[in-house]
Amino acid sequence: MQNIKNFINGEFVVGAEGKTFDKRSPLTNQVIASVHEAGRADVDRAVMAARQALHGEWGALTMEQRVDLLYGVANEITRRFEDFVDAEMADTGQPRHVMTHAFIPRGAANFKVFADVIKNVPSESFRMDTPDGRGALNYAIRVPKGVVGVIAPWNAPFLLMTWKVGPALACGNTVVVKPSEETPLTTTLLGEVMNSVGIPKGVFNVIHGFGPDSAGEFLTHHPKVDAITFTGETRTGTAIMSAAAKGMRDVSFELGGKNAGIVFADADFDAAVDGIFRSAFLNSGQVCLGTERVYVERPIFEKFVNALKDKAEAVKFGRPDDPNANYGPLISAEHKEKVMSYYAKAVEEGATVVTGGGVPEVPAELAAGHWVQPTIWTGLPETAAVVQEEIFGPCCHIRPFDSEDEVVQLANANDYGLSTTIWTTNLTRAHRMAARIEVGITWINSWFLRDLRTPFGGSKQSGIGREGGVHSLEFYTETRNVCVKL
Ligand code: NAD
Repeated sequence: MQNIKNFINGEFVVGAEGKTFDKRSPLTNQVIASVHEAGRADVDRAVMAARQALHGEWGALTMEQRVDLLYGVANEITRRFEDFVDAEMADTGQPRHVMTHAFIPRGAANFKVFADVIKNVPSESFRMDTPDGRGALNYAIRVPKGVVGVIAPWNAPFLLMTWKVGPALACGNTVVVKPSEETPLTTTLLGEVMNSVGIPKGVFNVIHGFGPDSAGEFLTHHPKVDAITFTGETRTGTAIMSAAAKGMRDVSFELGGKNAGIVFADADFDAAVDGIFRSAFLNSGQVCLGTERVYVERPIFEKFVNALKDKAEAVKFGRPDDPNANYGPLISAEHKEKVMSYYAKAVEEGATVVTGGGVPEVPAELAAGHWVQPTIWTGLPETAAVVQEEIFGPCCHIRPFDSEDEVVQLANANDYGLSTTIWTTNLTRAHRMAARIEVGITWINSWFLRDLRTPFGGSKQSGIGREGGVHSLEFYTETRNVCVKL
């Protein structure tokens, strides 16, 4: 069993209060690690170490030196690829190919891409006239925000955490990271990487624990944290925003979603079925960009529902590195209980259960794991809880539609506004719809195709701000204007 410590000022340390909590495998519910919880004093030490590093060795580096170190981090993650894959598989229980093709390479890319971005960012200047005719020159300089608190979720832990740490460090900030209590392993491993490539002490700190009355809350309330970037549930975002209001700290929020997938009758049918299948069921449906509401044009509705059902019924449950398996469990017993409560609610609300709705058969050694069946419903009104609320499980409701206007209105009739995926060969219509659907990201004939230079974030209840490429600089730096009289 692993013993997971906090990483403060370049050292792996136990919490001052001596508290630990168990990390359990999603596959078997067995305890796989004992994690040292950071108390208020530990969080304070981490924040003060980060503050000291900001004004010490890290702050004294040139941008070129900083960027070289970040390339070193990316290379070291790649060199230790299998360690990260194993740790993330242990934490999440998701298939190896999800780790090797998405979660871990994206973690390395997050350091490399933002090192590239910061090297190439232009600066702004304005020449102005003055009454004496000599003029003045204004130019803007970007400085780091300071100590950034990073709070990450469990669903794609390494990818989502590094998506914030990469740009924060590229911009010259220092960070204190609170990974999810469900997924402590890869963030801790990153501490080893930071030390081995020579990132100065205190630049990257990790504190373990929970949210309320634990490390998460201690971090967001700490007065020496200058900005907070958070990915997680909208409800948690609300609590963090009120903590950040004290001291006027800036926030960047990537929150929940209840995303619509829209399929027109003229779409490439097989590509649309594959795309919606991935968007609804990848990572056992635990993807913020996932599609839990599917709208299919009436002429192909029955055919589409049957094709999606066939794919959902073909998944093979098992361990991440089992070559005969391709489907993993939910993250925790608590999350399984939540998803199963929505499965029951769908039936109460009068859904037709096209497939799933229960717990699959798995080998006896995995029986205590958090397995649920991919589930498809039809026949519910739009007001039903399972059509309106984020479930974050492997499930979707499919409804027929008859016109573009109708489906735009259906897609927008939700409090969230993270993403949408539209499947059609009529690109004029697709572009028109992209401008009308109230989300931060629209995919046309694709899903989860990400270029890290593009703006990423949600509208409505799905977030505040945009990260990605130069957009990340808006959050991770402060712009100062200098006016020079000529
Ligand atoms: P969560 O909000 O429960 O927890 C996220 C993190 O916040 C964890 O580290 C948790 O310990 C911490 N936390 C909880 N309460 C806190 C508090 N009061 N103060 C400080 N920290 C606190 O979310 P989750 O269950 O880990 O993740 C799933 C959610 O994340 C879903 O809603 C999903 O849509 C969302 N998500 C959004 C994006 C995006 O980019 N928009 C990406 C991934 C996940």
